[in-house]
Parts: sequence; structure tokens; C-alpha cells
Amino acid sequence: MKEPTYNYREDSEKLNFVGNECNKCHKVYFPKRNVCRDCGSTEMIDRKLSGNGEIYSYTQIMVPPEDFNDKESYYAVIVKLDEGPRVSGILVDSGTTPDIGLRVKPALRLMKKDKETGLPRYQMKFEIID
Ligand SMILES: [Zn+2]
Repeated sequence: MKEPTYNYREDSEKLNFVGNECNKCHKVYFPKRNVCRDCGSTEMIDRKLSGNGEIYSYTQIMVPPEDFNDKESYYAVIVKLDEGPRVSGILVDSGTTPDIGLRVKPALRLMKKDKETGLPRYQMKFEIID
């Protein structure tokens, strides 16, 4: 059996929005950093983020990757989380056209199944809050 090529620990942090915060200047990072980019401190403390935020930018992907064979097109978004960091993600189909500034919340969804092992791979996506 083929070994999974991805890091489950990293998945767990991403799926749970675990970032970290500088203990000196309180800048928040996601994903985690070992050194604060703003003040150079190495005193970083884990911090669970809400995953809530607003659409900072978006684009429509008209030709999805081969693995996403159930999709004709989808929206890729950059979300500015309430805690500050910007993260990229995929918008859940909601029938609503995205717009900059719209509020979103996280939504755990199946991304794809491994072609060889059939193991599901999950991804945190975003869904527009009505
Ligand atoms: Zn800092």
C-alpha cells in the first residue's frame, strides 16, 4: 500500500485552525511561525482561531483539477480571518455569488479520495453566512 504523502499533523492544525500568536507584540499567524515576522520574537503561543472572517478576494476556477471531477467550476477565496491572518480556501457551493467583504464561516468538507487507497481527504472550506 502506498504511504500517504501528506502530513496528518499539519492537516489537524489546518482543519482546526490552530495558529499561533507572538507573546511580545500579539501578532497572530496561520499557519504557525517559529519567529514573529514583525518583532523577531521566538516566544510563540499556540492559538485556536475561529475560522470566521470576510472575503478579501476571490476568483472563479473554470477548469478544476482532475481530482475534483464532481465540479464544473468553483470559487477560490482569500479570507481575512477575524484574528488577522489571511488564508486561501474554497467556497462551498451555496448559489450565492461571492463578493468582497461578505462574512464567511468554516465548513469541513470532503476534498477528494485518494485514487489508489480510496482514503478520504478532508479540507476546511468556507461558506457564506447569510
Ligand atoms: Zn511579535
